[in-house]
Formats: sequence, C-alpha cells, structure tokens
Amino acid sequence: MYNCGPTVYDRQHIGNLYSYIAADVLRRTLEYSGLRVKQVMNITDVGHIVDDADEGEDKMAVGVRRAGKGPLEIASEFTRLFMEDRRKLNVLEPHVMSKATDHIPEMIELIKRLIEKGNAYVAADGVYFDTTTFPGYGTRLNAEPPDQRVAGARVEVNPNKRHPSDFALWRGAKPADLQQWDSPWGRGNPGWHIECSAMSMKYLGESFDIHTGGEDHLFPHHECEIAQSEAATGKPFVRCWVHVRFLRLDSERMAKSKGGFLTLDDVVGWGYDPLAFRLLALGAGYRTGLDFTREGMNAAQARLERWRRTIRSAYAATKGRVSEPEGEHAITREFHDTLADDLNTPRALAAAEKALSLAATTDIDEQERALWMLFDMDRVLGLSLRDAAVAKDELTADEREVFERREAARTAGDYAKSDALRKELLERFGIQVKDTKDGTRWERVGRKGA
Ligand SMILES: [Zn+2]
Ligand SMILES: [Zn+2]
Repeated sequence: MYNCGPTVYDRQHIGNLYSYIAADVLRRTLEYSGLRVKQVMNITDVGHIVDDADEGEDKMAVGVRRAGKGPLEIASEFTRLFMEDRRKLNVLEPHVMSKATDHIPEMIELIKRLIEKGNAYVAADGVYFDTTTFPGYGTRLNAEPPDQRVAGARVEVNPNKRHPSDFALWRGAKPADLQQWDSPWGRGNPGWHIECSAMSMKYLGESFDIHTGGEDHLFPHHECEIAQSEAATGKPFVRCWVHVRFLRLDSERMAKSKGGFLTLDDVVGWGYDPLAFRLLALGAGYRTGLDFTREGMNAAQARLERWRRTIRSAYAATKGRVSEPEGEHAITREFHDTLADDLNTPRALAAAEKALSLAATTDIDEQERALWMLFDMDRVLGLSLRDAAVAKDELTADEREVFERREAARTAGDYAKSDALRKELLERFGIQVKDTKDGTRWERVGRKGA
C-alpha cells in the first residue's frame, strides 16, 4: 500500500490528518483480517513539484523566507511535527518512509525510460510527458469529464508543450531555485508527479495493490501517475485506488491555499483529546467526507469519555479479567463485516457500542467477554482502549485549577462562589462534584448538550 504523503513546507491541517487516519484504518483492517501489509509513504520535500503550473511561487521558497532556514531544515522540522501528530492520533508508522530528495536518480531513470519509449520529449524548459501517447489519459479514475480538466484551468498555456495537457517530468532550473540537481537535461528539478511513480514502484514493484490519497489527488496527480507508470512498464500500475473525501470546515474545503487552516494543536488547545478527533473521523468514514464542527468535536469527546468510563468500571468489576468468547461472537462478526463492506467505520462503531452495552451490564462473564471484544476491535479503532481500562482518572491541569479554586471558596465559606465554580466544572468539563463528609469527590458525567 502506497500513501501519497505530505508536502513538508508547513504544518499539516486536520483535513490532511483525516486522510491519514483513513489510510491507517485501511491498513489495520487488512491486518485484522489476517493479511500482511507493507505500507509505504512518501515525504515531498521538494517545493517545486507541489503544483503543475510553472507560474506562481514555489511553496518551499515561501517557507524558507518565512522561517529563515534552509529547505531541508524546514522539511525535517515539519516532517517531525507531522509524525508527532500521527502518533497522537495512533496512526501506525509506515514500514517505509521515502523522501523525494533521496530518490532523484530513480526519477531520472524513469524519465529516461519514457523518452526512449516515445512517451516523453525534451523541450526548451524541461521534459514533458506527451499525453496523446497514452490513450485514456485523464479518464481512468473518472473524477469528472476530462475536457473540463485536461485543458487545465490552472495550468497556463506553455508554448514549449506540444499539447496543453502535457505535464512536466523535469523542469530546467530557474536561477532562484533553492533545490536543483544535475540531469541529462541540465540542472533542474523533478515535476510533481514523477516522484510518486518512482518511489512506489521502487518499494512495491511495478504493479501493486493499493494507492491512497485525498480526493484532490484524483486529477491531475493520480491520472498522471497512472499514465507515466503504465507507459514506462506496460503493466497495470495499481489494482485499487482509495480516495478520501475532504474534511469540510463550515462547508468549505480546508486547503492551505485558502488560508486559515486548523492544526491538531488548535484542536488540542480547545481542550479536546486527539483521540476524540480520531473517533470523529471514524464516525464519518472515508467516503462521505467529514464536516468538522465544534458540536461534532464535543459529541466525539463525550463519546470517547463515556467509552473510557464504561471500560474502566467494567475492568474494575472483572478485576482485570477478559475472556475470549467461544467461537466468533455475533458482535465481532458484525464489526468485521461492516469494515469489510467498504470500510464502513460508522457502522463498525455501532457494533462496538453493542459490546459497550454488554460491558455496562452487571453480569461479570458478559463483561469479561465484552472487554475482550473491545480490545480486539481496538486493533482497528486505535483508541487506546486498553490504556483507558487501567488509567487512573485524573483531572487535567485546567480542571484541577477550577477544582482547587472551588475547594478554597468552600473552605472559606463563600458558597455563592463555590456554587458558581461547581457549575463551571459541570458545564466546561462535564465534571460533577459532590461534597461528602470525607471531602470532595468528583466524577465525569459528560458535558451538557455534548
Ligand atoms: Zn499518489
Ligand atoms: Zn503522490
């Protein structure tokens, strides 16, 4: 499986992270089904290749100017932050992470092959793929009628190209280019699409099973990958394409070019658990896209906390015993069948909710089986449910601060203030406090309206 990876001249927004969660669920589902997966993800650390147009500013150059650092320093910093975000979301590490800058020779080899076969030509300003030599170019993934795209609204007509739809494999360096390499066609840098063909075929072979990306990769990126890969090898490139629909923020696609995008740090800064975002993504699935709202996040956070509470108390009740049901339990089968049905994660969560209802009963045998099933499902869900079972529930720093102010007010006999802070704990954090003769107790009951 090849995942079209990030461009690392900036932070990844939550829309990008949503698509990597979807790819992670796919890998975990395949492994849950007993298959072995080799997962490869590229890191696009060459700024020139993020856009097909020769016009406009190189995004890496923008990053360089903003940060006052070199391109590779910027790339490694944003790669590190991206991998940190992934870990917080329990997205498994790919087996291979390949950087574009480490694979320039492979790209040059592939371009040479395409020139030899007559699918590419050398022009004054670089090397282009001749789209007329690949029948069906731009139509393989059926995104929308090709005549609306191939002439290229965003691609300026370039007089060096034989046809407007031809795309760059190699570009001659411009004096200001920060990243440039030697090639048989002079110094320059690779086009946007060639990196993914060169790296995916290097690590997975000329034909491989699954290629994932966001729906914005459908065209031109993936159509170009298919054309140049299949033209070079004469073999089918990818057996199954998986495109994750957009995360929509207030009904607008969240793209960096539109400015003002949200990162995982923003979401965590609002007080949410990163895994609540993962749960929100699972609740949407990959095919419909995700409408991101604060209400949705509140509901996901409340759901995650409810799951954790239920699992924690069931685990306490069984004294840490879990037992595998005899034969395949109907709930486990339902869970697996819904995932096998086009990764229907919303319905898989509904199956998990059934196991949670069993965990919430007072029948110890039932609870032991429910816990086993939940931990088993967590191999796909990735919500750290085992950790939830054994975690001691503690107040966060923000919660503790309010809790302690209330304690102080109560001890000082300021009951109006203490009542107001009690209300704040309930409304802001979903924490109910009770005053007992042994002191103040607290319990998570979930936020009102969440
Ligand atoms: Zn791709
Ligand atoms: Zn790609």
